[in-house]
Amino acid sequence: MDNNKILTVAIYVRVSTEEQMKHGYSIQAQKESLIKYCKEKKYKVYDIYADEGKSARSKLKQRTEMCRLLEDVKDKKINRIVFIKLDRWFRNIADYYKVQEILDKYHVDWETTQEDYNTTTSSGRLNLNIRLSIAQDEADRTADRIRFTFDNMIKNKRAIQGSHCMPLGYIVEGVGKEKHVVKDKEKEHIVKDMFEHFANYNSIRGTLLYLNNKYQLHLCYDSVRHYFKNELYTGKYKNIIDYCEPYITYDEFLENQKRINCNVKVNAERYDYIFSGLMRCNKCGYKLSGFTHKSKTYKNHAYRCNRAYNSKSCTNISPIIESNLEKYLINNFLLLYNKHVSEETIIEKENTKKRISNEQINKKLDRLTDLYVDGRITREKYNTEYDKYKSMLVEEKQVEIKPIKKKIKSLVNAKALDIYNQLDNKSKHAFWLTYIDYIERDEHKNYIVHFK
Ligand SMILES: [Zn+2]
Repeated sequence: MDNNKILTVAIYVRVSTEEQMKHGYSIQAQKESLIKYCKEKKYKVYDIYADEGKSARSKLKQRTEMCRLLEDVKDKKINRIVFIKLDRWFRNIADYYKVQEILDKYHVDWETTQEDYNTTTSSGRLNLNIRLSIAQDEADRTADRIRFTFDNMIKNKRAIQGSHCMPLGYIVEGVGKEKHVVKDKEKEHIVKDMFEHFANYNSIRGTLLYLNNKYQLHLCYDSVRHYFKNELYTGKYKNIIDYCEPYITYDEFLENQKRINCNVKVNAERYDYIFSGLMRCNKCGYKLSGFTHKSKTYKNHAYRCNRAYNSKSCTNISPIIESNLEKYLINNFLLLYNKHVSEETIIEKENTKKRISNEQINKKLDRLTDLYVDGRITREKYNTEYDKYKSMLVEEKQVEIKPIKKKIKSLVNAKALDIYNQLDNKSKHAFWLTYIDYIERDEHKNYIVHFK
């Protein structure tokens, strides 16, 4: 290099996230010391290239500023690159030589401000090689150390990730060494509901639809599937059994794995009928069976009472065509369901009113009896008053509200049916199972839907 010529240099700085946190290394401090150095040496600084939050082991392509620098090298804008230490430049020998090749080609050299290398002699190159080997080894050890630290944290049941990495129903609580994975109290009921629904209906897609509708969520199929495959819900994480509070037992987890992997195939045929298990004979009360209804021109899924077909012990011989029923349900489902929910609410309200008035009447009857016993009214008076009050007592309509009914009482919106059209038969089956207890058809061929 011509000693009289003013050298145009590139300043390169790099700090990894870990170094920033651990040692307080900063980009700014490196820049300042390098600018000062270049001033002293009377270098002309072409530009400063700073890779922030990049470890030396980062792939070349990820170090965008280094790539920009190499472009400028190729454009012959730079004579020399300056950095504080070799380990800022590279820790990986292979990449080092790749870059060095480019530098050699464009006659660009480099210099460090805090270390001394002479690459013009073979002993100097050997020294460089050794330094790079040590640096690479250190980087590997750092990776090992991080892994070891993580293992230790897990052993001590500490959280190593933030809440955003947790599956539904878990959050990270606390700070520093007291960070732990705990149940998310706000979503606990959703997760319980999810496992319960899957246990009952055995369908991932059905569970997905159910959760999205009920809790206005936007879960996708894969995330729900992953929840069922996540051991964390049993409290276990990376071989630590009581890492956090469980939602399900390990046996339940294993059962779910079986269902996810096998049940689809085992029950595939049964679920070909989308109302399988949901149809009931209005004459004898037995469940209707799916069969293929054939004629010269068409082939249809249909349902019939096998007691009528096989043993002739029922007279209900007219089959129900699946596609007709499906069409009817799609067109009327929202209406029927909303009516069902509001009827139930009205009955509940009426019952409450009746209960209150009945209690009052019963009190009056008690008082009447007291009066008669005390001899303050005649037997005749007692009888007439008693009959009067007795007739005022109203019967409460007996409606048993099952817990599941209350659960699904949340809105069923039109969106649920939009999704419905995209489903396969198995999932359609799971969808109807969620809402419907059973369906029958009366003698006038009207469908009657009984909700859960
Ligand atoms: Zn029947």
